[in-house]
Formats: sequence, structure tokens, C-alpha cells
Amino acid sequence: MKMNVTRWSPDTCGCIIEYEWDSDLPENERTHNAVHTIPCELHRGKTHKELFDHVGEENRRKNVSVSKAMDHLGLQFEDIKWGFDKNRNVELTIEKADQSQKKSLQDKVDKELGKVKII
Ligand SMILES: [Zn+2]
Repeated sequence: MKMNVTRWSPDTCGCIIEYEWDSDLPENERTHNAVHTIPCELHRGKTHKELFDHVGEENRRKNVSVSKAMDHLGLQFEDIKWGFDKNRNVELTIEKADQSQKKSLQDKVDKELGKVKII
């Protein structure tokens, strides 16, 4: 057992999370346990684990939706502007896509992810 601590600041909010993991375990058996967190103003009042789960989910949902948009529409990362609305839905603004492309991408992310809006 060899414990390491990694500090993570997601690009989706201002939280800072330090998590512990065992580098003696193979990668697919590792768990990441939050041991210290500094919440941003959006994410106060949670335990370390709740904060890590919550912020991790938002960050994954943003990353996965951006990469689905790139795949689905054949676009580059720079073609997609991402953000969040006040309910923490991911908002993807895609100027290079027309209405029917946006509709088809919206259907896809609704089915596979949820809480993503294509604008
Ligand atoms: Zn946060």
C-alpha cells in the first residue's frame, strides 16, 4: 500500500479537492477518496465525498457532452462553447451547427446523458 494525494481543481467550478489513492494497486482497482476539500460558492455544505461525487459528475457530464458533440457533428473542440445554467445543466453553444443538427444532438444527449442543453 502506497498512498498518494492528488489535488484537483475542475475546470467546471472553483472547488478544490484533494483525493487519496493507492499507487500499489493496478489502475482498474484504484479508488479515489476525497480527504480534503475547499468548496466553491456553488457547492458548499457537503461532505468531502459528496462534494467529490457531485463535482466529478458535473465535470464528466461536461467532458462527455463536449466530446459527443464533436463526434456527432464532426467539429473541433474550439467550435463548441460550454457553460452551465443556474440549475447546473451543461449548455453547449454551437454556432457551426444548424437547427436540425442541434435537434439530433439534443436527442442523443437527452437519451445518453441528460441535463445538457444544446443552444
Ligand atoms: Zn464547486
